[in-house]
Amino acid sequence: MVAASALASVLAAASAPAAGAAFEPGAAGVGDPFFPRAGNGGYDVSHYGLDLIYFPNLGRLNATATIRATATQDLSSFDLDYRGPRITDVTVGGEAAGYSRRGQELVVEPAAGIPNGSSFEVVVAYRGPPHEITDADGSIEGWVRTDDGAFVVGEPQGSPTWFPCNDHPTDKASFATSITVPRGTEAIANGALRGRIQSRRRRGNEMVRWSYVAQEPMASYLATATVGQFDIDRTPVAGLGSLVAIDPLEQGRRERRLRRSFQRSDEIIGLFAGLFGPYPFTQTGAIVDHAPQVGYALETQTRPIYDGAPSQTTVAHELAHQWFGDSVSLARWQDMWLNEGFATWAQWRWGEEAGGLTTAQRLASLQAQPASRTDLWDPPAGAIPTPAELFSNSVYTRGAMALEALRQRVGNATFYDILRAWTAAHAYANATTADFIALSESQSGRQLDELFQRYLFKPGKP
Ligand SMILES: [Zn+2]
Repeated sequence: MVAASALASVLAAASAPAAGAAFEPGAAGVGDPFFPRAGNGGYDVSHYGLDLIYFPNLGRLNATATIRATATQDLSSFDLDYRGPRITDVTVGGEAAGYSRRGQELVVEPAAGIPNGSSFEVVVAYRGPPHEITDADGSIEGWVRTDDGAFVVGEPQGSPTWFPCNDHPTDKASFATSITVPRGTEAIANGALRGRIQSRRRRGNEMVRWSYVAQEPMASYLATATVGQFDIDRTPVAGLGSLVAIDPLEQGRRERRLRRSFQRSDEIIGLFAGLFGPYPFTQTGAIVDHAPQVGYALETQTRPIYDGAPSQTTVAHELAHQWFGDSVSLARWQDMWLNEGFATWAQWRWGEEAGGLTTAQRLASLQAQPASRTDLWDPPAGAIPTPAELFSNSVYTRGAMALEALRQRVGNATFYDILRAWTAAHAYANATTADFIALSESQSGRQLDELFQRYLFKPGKP
């Protein structure tokens, strides 16, 4: 480790272009009220190149992350979010850089200051065993080891367990992820599989390098690099490139359920594309692992990940997130209903299409629940008080109720106009609850404060 803070600030001051211009450290967080240290200030990432070598039997990673970014201020130093194994080297623009670790922050001190507006490349090399982390609500995320590899998920803050990043949904970037694993093990990431090539032997193993490219901008929490035993099906779905990876253990135990769950993916995508606007990515698929300790599925971009054989309803939910959450992302974590309320409503809508209850019947049956069912009502979906309550039932149910109430108020034509305007206006970008309310009002020409107050913000049963 090189303690270069003093040196870097001297160099930064020396390279300042104009008298009075001060090169300063980028902020340690983007100011998200729930996760003040998530993300960082002073730069914007455009691309992550992740080159990982993983040995499942040892649980050890040997990795290089190449991050391309543009400075948004005159930077003397900047932070990355990182909770991973031991760092062996950091360079900026090909030159050795100083670095230090402070909690989840990796502080990088380039040899010279980086002027506002200039692009730069940071390379971080690291090796050792990555770990999972436990969230405020007790769930686990990050690099979660399994019986045969790792189940890799990052919502809301697990991605820094396996790569240094600007870990906030407001900074999206393209990804090129390669994972080298012993022959006979599979490795699955986001985007298009570009190649599986033999790599040099390591630790007595023949190695295979799996390379993926996710070209559309992606939030860091939606990245995966899942490793294990998988059967792979690359049959295109709904005209999209697809990769469905299923752990043979789940396949053996739940074959019929799996076939039922995935056999209508093209229809689900087709329905949603008709209602919400074009599918936002060039790739789709799924990762079905055997990871019962995880207890949830996640909408990893282009390729949702399941901890076991999912139901068709869950598949519809995760596919809906490709529009709501992945393409249109949160600007701050407490607007979570924009992800979960929308995906839940879409899952209801698919249920209606598949011959189940209508969305109106779903709302009516929830309205028939007693006020004492506080698990359904609190906290209000639009006013989540703490990070521990981010994934409360009420965020899902009341969020979906708000959308169904909106549909009933403005009518189908206007409702779907609103959803399509939403996915178009904020594609590959970020939005807030206030943005959605404003759009709903402008598209419908109605004052909707009362509706959103009732379903999103009022404590107790709406
Ligand atoms: Zn969800």
